[in-house]
Amino acid sequence: MKPHLIILGAPGSGKGTQASRLAGKGYRHISTGDLLRSEIAKNTELGQKVSGILSRGDLVDDNTVMALLKANCDINMVSYIFDGFPRNVVQAEMLDTQLLQGCNSIAVYYKLEPGVLIDRIVNRRTCAKCGEIYNLNTKPPMKSNVCDKCGSINELKQRKDDTQEVVSNRLKIFADTVNPMLLFYKAKGALVEIDASKPEDEVFDNLEKVIC
Ligand SMILES: [Zn+2]
Repeated sequence: MKPHLIILGAPGSGKGTQASRLAGKGYRHISTGDLLRSEIAKNTELGQKVSGILSRGDLVDDNTVMALLKANCDINMVSYIFDGFPRNVVQAEMLDTQLLQGCNSIAVYYKLEPGVLIDRIVNRRTCAKCGEIYNLNTKPPMKSNVCDKCGSINELKQRKDDTQEVVSNRLKIFADTVNPMLLFYKAKGALVEIDASKPEDEVFDNLEKVIC
């Protein structure tokens, strides 16, 4: 069985794309949002509890998320990708002691210099008509201001919060929470760092070398 993967990376690191590519290779992608919704739909005791928390507008606490994971993961039969959970070192420890419990697991950190991340994000443009995503440096439209996919003109927009200032602040918050997690996994000998500045296919090949 392949190791369980805990995927870590800043917004803009491309970890989401990498995680969905893995899902096509026998891995099951765990999204806590999906788990919450499906547990509510099943109307279990836990689902009713979650439904109550959400309808009050509260955040689901770590213990409830852990209970959801325990109820829905067959950890000895399926290799999972954890993406978006754990979000901090407390959750990382909980995941380790309450669910993974010594199972073969690796934390994969998609590493990218802050300057590169900021460049990626501030140069991102999204077609307002069809949602196609461009990058003015690495994936520009063939004709300036024309969407390759749907042909719309002057519809390639920058998201409001993709400015340098907002992105720098987002990355600082991310670094403050991810660094303790990296230390935690490093101390366990379970941390792999992948250079996320490389082209998407190369990044994926490097990941595959680690997990096979
Ligand atoms: Zn378009």
